[in-house]
Order: sequence, then C-alpha cells, then structure tokens
Amino acid sequence: MNLCKIVKKSKEQARRVFTQKQNKTFLKKFSKTPFNERIIFVPHCMRKTSLCKAEERDSYYICANCGQCKIGAINELAKDFGYKSVYILKGGRAITKIIETVHPKAVLGIACFYEGDLAFKLLKDYDLAVQFVGLTKDGCADTDADLSAVSAILQLEEK
Ligand code: SF4
Repeated sequence: MNLCKIVKKSKEQARRVFTQKQNKTFLKKFSKTPFNERIIFVPHCMRKTSLCKAEERDSYYICANCGQCKIGAINELAKDFGYKSVYILKGGRAITKIIETVHPKAVLGIACFYEGDLAFKLLKDYDLAVQFVGLTKDGCADTDADLSAVSAILQLEEK
C-alpha cells in the first residue's frame, strides 16, 4: 500500500472513531427526544437519480416514496414514528439553514464518514442530539446505507 492510501485509510478510520464517540455522547439525549421533534438528513446520492420523483426545493428534495431507493423506506418509517421531516440534502451547506428554520431537537444523519465528521463539527454549537449512520457504499451516485442500522437508531426511544 502506498503512502497516499495509508494516509487516506487512517483519516477514514479517525472519522469512524470520532463519529462513534459523538454517537455515544448524544445517544441518551436522542433517545429521550420525542419523535415529533426529530428530523432526518439523507444524502441525495442515495436516490435512484434517473427514476426519482422527489420534489425539489432550493437546497434539498422531499421524497415522493416512488419505491426506487432506500430513502423511500426511511421516509415511510419516519412517517410511521411521527418524525418532523426527512430532508434529502443536495449538500452539507443546507444543514444549518434547515436547522435554523425548522428548529428540531434531534437529528439523525446518514452520510459518508467525511460528511458525518463535518456535520458533527458544524452542529456542535446547536442544542441538538445528533446520531449518525455512515454509508456502506459512498461516492457521488448510487450510494448505499444499512437500512437495519438506520431503522434501529430511528426507533430509539427512552422515556
Ligand atoms: S424513493 Fe424517494 S428518494 Fe428514492 S428514488 Fe423514489 S422519490 Fe427519489
């Protein structure tokens, strides 16, 4: 393995460790937040772009549940549990704009580890309980996430 690959791998590992630690820090607070005070961020690269029927807004999309990608299932679960909303982000810059508009108390974010690391840092000054699930396949398109991992966190509830 060349030096470049070693550095890349160690940065990725550092991001995994950092996001795991952050998840632990916020787990209890997230679990205690009512479902209707929580929102979900998913990345647009998880959409089935050629078939996607999501409604486009300025910095995000709203899923139309066309059934072509896992975001539809996440959206359905979120509705069933009474989440405030699911936002399919066009980019990380939309995050603070949405937080400052919608004022959620908790956020479940699904993204690559690079974006997850950035998002935790971006949101550190907000009074928010954040949980993160890293993509199992990242890239610019056709990315993937573990639906059972998302579902497990989405349903966390502690009275
Ligand atoms: S399920 Fe939602 S996000 Fe996925 S392709 Fe259909 S409309 Fe787009």
